[in-house]
Amino acid sequence: MYDYCVIGGGIVGVATAREILRRHPDASLLLLEKAGSLGFHQTGHNSGVIHSGIYYEPGSLKAELSRRGAEATKAFAAEHNILFDVRGKLLVATNPVEHARMVALYERSKVNGLDVEVIDRAELIRREPAVTGTGALFVPTTGIVDYRRITDVLADSVRAAGGEIKLGVEVVGITESTDGVAIDSLEESWSATQLVVCAGLQADRMARLAGIAVDFQIIPFRGEYYELPEHRSKLVHHLIYPIPDPDLPFLGVHLSPTADGKLTVGPNAVLGLAREKYRKFGFDGRDVWEYLRFRGFYSVARANMRTGMGEMRDSLSKRGYLARCRKYCPELTRGDLLPREAGIRAQAVLRDGTLVHDFMIERTPRSVHVLNAPSPAATSALPIAEMIADKLGQPRRS
Ligand SMILES: Cc1cc2nc3c(=O)[nH]c(=O)nc-3n(C[C@H](O)[C@H](O)[C@H](O)COP(=O)(O)OP(=O)(O)OC[C@H]3O[C@@H](n4cnc5c(N)ncnc54)[C@H](O)[C@@H]3O)c2cc1C
Repeated sequence: MYDYCVIGGGIVGVATAREILRRHPDASLLLLEKAGSLGFHQTGHNSGVIHSGIYYEPGSLKAELSRRGAEATKAFAAEHNILFDVRGKLLVATNPVEHARMVALYERSKVNGLDVEVIDRAELIRREPAVTGTGALFVPTTGIVDYRRITDVLADSVRAAGGEIKLGVEVVGITESTDGVAIDSLEESWSATQLVVCAGLQADRMARLAGIAVDFQIIPFRGEYYELPEHRSKLVHHLIYPIPDPDLPFLGVHLSPTADGKLTVGPNAVLGLAREKYRKFGFDGRDVWEYLRFRGFYSVARANMRTGMGEMRDSLSKRGYLARCRKYCPELTRGDLLPREAGIRAQAVLRDGTLVHDFMIERTPRSVHVLNAPSPAATSALPIAEMIADKLGQPRRS
């Protein structure tokens, strides 16, 4: 019987395991991950941005935890000699509609307590000669890091504190009783006094497996990237983002330097045909069948038909994709877009078609389930872990 079991070796699960052992150094803890390495899914397939929290609804968990998470991530990376770079981000408006949205975003950033600067066209060109727009917001605190590396270092401290991490173990059964929780894979079984589930793209299935009556479905959205050739990797210095459409959950195709010196373009947001298959047209019958049977999917599809078709068209045609980036970086050419592996986002959708924007965490007597941890959950993982640890009880022996 372990004191704690954590399912999911993404950044949220590993950060939670570390936080539990920091608070309860004598506790026994087991972390189970079905992939062969940690951070294999969303944590290892993202933009690597340390978000400052400008976009999020004031008062939401995202607004609070991304602000705290950005600070905590930078401090953790500095303490453990993990490469990170706080270059700042420019959110570029290219037409009057975007300009009006930019002003609204500026107001929101002030409510969220962030230090953001509005700059005009001339100043934008001075700071980024390859970028064009009617103006921009400058967010100085945005940074870049490799979240897989952060996860590996977090895992080192879990192991150093006596936690066990088992890779290649898929949990297929969870049974909660008054004394604890039984956890089964096809080959082995374990029991723990308390369980935490941080299963990312499988969050809804794991909750159902544990007998929680959830009213949402994870719908996979691919985020496809390109990478610029090496000689173009210094084309911009800052992260360059479009002004997002406030009705959509995704931030738009952006130019992002990576911690290892590359410059990437992306991600778009295309309906996925599989939760965990990364190549284009990767298909999983169960994943697709489950969302086709889900009423909320049709409401989302109807409400976002035009945007969705546009995303699909530009996913199939490099020309369309390029046009999105050329809006704010006109000198990009087709030849600049080299292939790079896509990521797949877990987007929780409610039965009535509402896209769940905020983090969602549910508690049962002996478990905590992270049901929705979309972007910026990598940035926010350290304070999310604290929040989860607050919800857990003491270990048996202390
Ligand atoms: C394209 C894209 C770009 C993004 N950009 C950013 C960004 O720039 N900044 C940012 O902060 N966030 C970003 N995000 C979001 C961020 O990556 C995620 O919010 C974060 O990684 C979620 O971490 P997680 O641990 O919850 O999920 P994951 O990293 O998906 O981990 C869940 C783990 O659970 C495991 N698991 C599932 N089921 C089982 C089972 N039955 N048994 C055992 N293990 C199981 C999976 O194998 C997986 O490893 C982006 C996401 C995507 C997809």
